[in-house]
Amino acid sequence: MTRIIALPGDGIGPEIMAAARELLDRIDADFEIEERLVGGVSIDATGSPLTDEVLEDCRNADAVLLAAVGGPKWDTTDPDAPRPEQGLLGLRKGLGLYANLRPVRPSPALLDASPLKRDRIEGTDLLVVRELTGGVYFGDRGRRDDSAYDTTVYSVGEIERIAEVGFRFARERVTSVDKANILETSRLWREVVEGVAKRHPDKQLDHLLVDNAAMQLVSRPSSFDVILTENMFGDILSDEAAMLTGSIGMLPSASVGEPGTPGLFEPVHGSAPDIAGTGRANPLAMFGSVAMMLRYGLGRQDEAAAVESAVDRALADGLRTADLGGDANLEDATRAVLSNL
Ligand code: NAD
Repeated sequence: MTRIIALPGDGIGPEIMAAARELLDRIDADFEIEERLVGGVSIDATGSPLTDEVLEDCRNADAVLLAAVGGPKWDTTDPDAPRPEQGLLGLRKGLGLYANLRPVRPSPALLDASPLKRDRIEGTDLLVVRELTGGVYFGDRGRRDDSAYDTTVYSVGEIERIAEVGFRFARERVTSVDKANILETSRLWREVVEGVAKRHPDKQLDHLLVDNAAMQLVSRPSSFDVILTENMFGDILSDEAAMLTGSIGMLPSASVGEPGTPGLFEPVHGSAPDIAGTGRANPLAMFGSVAMMLRYGLGRQDEAAAVESAVDRALADGLRTADLGGDANLEDATRAVLSNL
């Protein structure tokens, strides 16, 4: 029995989660799926965006599937008031999720929606593996006299474990991105990644400086397999990579930690309060998150590929939700994908 905790959250979250549950039921009737509260709905019910009980249930699951949190109802400038996105941070921290995975695999039917020319983007199927819990976002910072500082710190252990994730998920090649011509943390990064590469003789390793990587990502995206990088570089490069596919309603993501612990799988988009309740949300990023959960969280590669090709076929048959310039609604999109599964 595979135990999945489903966190529908706020806004369009419950609508796209219901569609994802239909998809999961179709894949395997033996998935044991339990819903819990997170985000704004959890604040309303308990005063906290993530309770200890919900976190404990997530820890005991095989995978956690989240839709989206947040909305104007909980927007506040009071620094002491609970905020929905603290639920996400609490999950990442509480589950020890130190690797963020963002795949970039434009559907063939949507190649013309990319800001890149078709011949550049065609064949792109890459994964950005970003370190999530270290680096400059977590280092010592402050003000001194009339200056300010932020510090980047990485330990050998932190680099080793994220590099292992990169090599584990690469088909054949890891491109490690750093700024080793200037930064000491990058020089350590390079040394440690080279060491980890020796444990994976079947995979190639190459290095790119981050400024060059930003250029290569738009000039030859189809040549990448896994892009492995630290927190801040990954933050920037994963958003750049995301734009290659052309629509926010299509992008899934995952955060994972130690092998054997549950990962968190979620669309990149937010709770879209402007269209919540209208039935017009695009469920495809959510379906992509289900595919990522199957592949990276549950080791069920064939079923992940089946979900992705059902989405591709539905798009090839002409499925377009409003965000893709069409008039299909959530229900139409769900039917179109399920009928191609
Ligand atoms: P958003 O991603 O929710 O929406 C941006 C635009 O994209 C909106 O016009 C929306 O209608 C559209 N959109 C998003 N997802 C869509 C989908 N599946 N189908 C069709 N259209 C879609 O970002 P925002 O408006 O900046 O944020 C809204 C709320 O979501 C805020 O409270 C924010 O904090 C929260 N948020 C949550 C997450 C998350 O849960 N991971 C991520 C980003 C933002």
